[in-house]
Amino acid sequence: MQLPREIFIGKNTIKYVNHICNKLKLTRASLIITGSKTYYIAGKMVKELLESEGIKAEILLVKEATLKEVKIAEEKIKSLEAQVVFGVGGGTKIDIAKLSSAKQKIPFISIPTTASHDGIASPLSSVKGLGNPFSIMAQAPIAIIADTNIIMQAPQRQIISGCSDVISKLTAVKDWKLAYKEKKEYYGEYAANLALMSTKPVMQNADIIKSGKEEGIRVLLEALISCGVAMSIAGSSRPCSGSEHLFSHALDVVKPNNAMHGEQCGFGTIIMMHLHRSNWRNVKKTLEKLGAPTKCDNLYLEQEEVIRALLMAPSIRPNRYTILSKLKLDFKDYQKVLKITGTA
Ligand SMILES: [Zn+2]
Repeated sequence: MQLPREIFIGKNTIKYVNHICNKLKLTRASLIITGSKTYYIAGKMVKELLESEGIKAEILLVKEATLKEVKIAEEKIKSLEAQVVFGVGGGTKIDIAKLSSAKQKIPFISIPTTASHDGIASPLSSVKGLGNPFSIMAQAPIAIIADTNIIMQAPQRQIISGCSDVISKLTAVKDWKLAYKEKKEYYGEYAANLALMSTKPVMQNADIIKSGKEEGIRVLLEALISCGVAMSIAGSSRPCSGSEHLFSHALDVVKPNNAMHGEQCGFGTIIMMHLHRSNWRNVKKTLEKLGAPTKCDNLYLEQEEVIRALLMAPSIRPNRYTILSKLKLDFKDYQKVLKITGTA
């Protein structure tokens, strides 16, 4: 079980980067993985802060999370003799930092510039070229610096997507419990409860989060980090990824680059809650309050595309047993589900 040792959430927390490096004795050389935009948002500042303390810091600009980029990062780590990798940016940059550092057996520090999904603190990395559309185990960040001043600059849509990713744990945990009961799969009560607990403050504070206030962003960040920790404790993505995530991965196949990960998972959660015979209305109401998509139209999808993804979802990861593999619904059944839930 790997857990972060230092977590800083709040305004201007980026300035703690040296404090963390000193404390963890990572003061010789570091690699900063960032993007062309996120370099100016935070990457440059991290480099300057490190160099001001005499820590060697080199930038690697990346675009897409591919195995090729991971290999380039690994070469950089070796040539620099880096002791630590910083992932500064959104999903892609953090995913590359996570996997390349894990392969080179050095720690990584997560500095998210957005709060759109739970990958900012999870031990899993999603990289293209691994032969599957979901993520693999890499390593948990040794430290997380979530500077709300930086994250508040990100588009509101990303914040809402992050909320939806948190809310999706409601069905992820139900699917995990189902797999435990029916397939004797390992089930960790603590990790499951931690993931579930993270949904509460986000759902209860939907108004504050939507208003864009720092207080709300902090609630969301704490929830996203708790989800990451839940995955570290479980040793898999189980507490945070169930049928709603399989549906989102299937949508990425049916219609690539259409909507954000969290948006798709949140929409899927309404449907999966209905299939689990749970309170889907409350989920839908909360997502509506946040301004998240709850209808095919809001996701720029045809009803038929959504149903195709629902039918495909169980085959995305056949060994992940969920409500979808249990019920085995057909096209007409799903048409009814979309109609009942008002998601059509
Ligand atoms: Zn997710």
